Amino acid sequence: MKVLAVAPEIYPLIKTGGLADVTGALPLAMAGQGISTRTLIPGYPAVMKAFRRGRPLHKYAALQGGRATVYGAKVAGLDLLVLDAPHLFDRTGGPYGDATGSDFPDNWRRFAALSQVGADIAAGVIKGYVPDVVHAHDWQSAMTLAYMRYGAAVTTPSALTVHNLAFQGQFGSSIFAELGLPAAAMSLEGVEYYGGVGFLKAGLQAAWAITTVSPTYAQEIRSPEFGMGLDGLVNMRASDLYGIVNGIDTDTWNPATDKYLTANFSADTLAARQANKLAVEKRFSLEHDDSPILCVISRLTWQKGMDMLVGTLDQVVAEGARLAILGSGDSAFEGALLAGAARHRGRVGVVIGYDESLSHLMQAGCDAIVIPSRFEPCGLTQLYGLRYGCVPIVARTGGLADTVIDANEAALSAGVATGFQFEPADAGSFMHAVARATAAYATPDVWASIQRQGMKADVSWDRSARKYADLYRSLVARKPV
Ligand code: ADP
Repeated sequence: MKVLAVAPEIYPLIKTGGLADVTGALPLAMAGQGISTRTLIPGYPAVMKAFRRGRPLHKYAALQGGRATVYGAKVAGLDLLVLDAPHLFDRTGGPYGDATGSDFPDNWRRFAALSQVGADIAAGVIKGYVPDVVHAHDWQSAMTLAYMRYGAAVTTPSALTVHNLAFQGQFGSSIFAELGLPAAAMSLEGVEYYGGVGFLKAGLQAAWAITTVSPTYAQEIRSPEFGMGLDGLVNMRASDLYGIVNGIDTDTWNPATDKYLTANFSADTLAARQANKLAVEKRFSLEHDDSPILCVISRLTWQKGMDMLVGTLDQVVAEGARLAILGSGDSAFEGALLAGAARHRGRVGVVIGYDESLSHLMQAGCDAIVIPSRFEPCGLTQLYGLRYGCVPIVARTGGLADTVIDANEAALSAGVATGFQFEPADAGSFMHAVARATAAYATPDVWASIQRQGMKADVSWDRSARKYADLYRSLVARKPV
């Protein structure tokens, strides 16, 4: 079976969050299921640098205001289709905005172009290649499914994965005329959303199947609280809605071989984590003692509960724990966390920025990872934590609820606990979970058993890859003959 994935990010070439980890790992996992994936991605500078331009597979004289070319490329075991469109993607800054963090004003045009090309490839513009299924990711590629529905690839099965319903790609109605869609598409069943054009909404409407990245989040987004205005539509599509939890790349994230660590270790050699803990102390200028180090590796946003972290920082320190925080995001949170580090020198360390290698070292050297998210479609850092013996302390929501087993009395006595959950997502219950964790840490046998149990959890893609394969097969079976 041949799957065309369309994605705005892919690890290891371009990543702003978990979406890239997923689009980078899923093709490799699907290969084991007899499914070959080609992924269409924008030709950002980092992507264009990563391969040597060969023969073009398809050329556009005019694509949303400029020339464009589709190249084939093999990078890091991934089979890529790169959309080289310099007028849209050859820019400094990130994939969606400039260096100051402002969104590019023509993002609608950039990702409409990506989606148009996705639909063209679905319809067979690349010689010798017709995918059996098209799989789009998030609002940036969701329009692929609308272009398919109103174009030549209307009978090609499709899936849309929502990695985060909060990002919807909502634009004014004036762009519609430039999308190249028939007038009928500007309707409730098409791309129209609250009088404008909704990219994610259009995809939710057109996709044969909708998936999101955990079973709990798939349920949550049917409610007004988590539905972000789209719960009505999500409910309408409920019979085509699936929750499939993300896995992680267990080769990249393997504590026994990870090159970013000071010392490698396994569940049988947990004592070796100590060398990594010392390295974390040094990197974050923390005092050396026997207390636990709790870490945060996160976008610093309201979604991630960073206001709650800021508000409880003094209490966490009073509880006797140290904090190592790596992240970037809202400048107010960055400032408040740096102020907290200044207030609690040696007890709280903060690194503002994005640092892949440091994130590995922290998972290997810290005792627990704190994830107080308001909502969390899946979350990956708790999965890395499980694999690295860095015990997750998480809000009971979305994928966090599905992947961490709370260390309550029953779970502890059955020996199945892997972390700590709290609910509701407020300061009081968060601090209660921190207190439970520090108490467990004080009993080394209990703590080691929670660590080992987490390290045994299957966080690989195997199970979920089978679920995606089953879904693809069921969609192909629905294809009209
Ligand atoms: P989201 O995609 O919502 O940001 P996830 O938990 O799904 O959250 O994925 C976040 C990914 O980004 C993980 O791989 C995490 O390790 C990584 N990450 C987040 N912030 C940083 C940072 N400041 N430095 C390094 N890696 C980070």
